[in-house]
Amino acid sequence: MASCLECNQNIRVPQDAIDGEIVTCGDCGTCFELEISESGVLTLKTAESVGEDWGE
Ligand SMILES: [Zn+2]
Repeated sequence: MASCLECNQNIRVPQDAIDGEIVTCGDCGTCFELEISESGVLTLKTAESVGEDWGE
């Protein structure tokens, strides 16, 4: 479980979620990139562009 950065609602994160997975807030619809640290701490980062610009 993580908190939406936009509306603070809880976002359900799957048990098998992986680092870098995109999760979407069910309440406001904002997409976030999931960051999982080595110690298992979940952090959400705003996913500003999903798609073609990951090359750099
Ligand atoms: Zn939200």
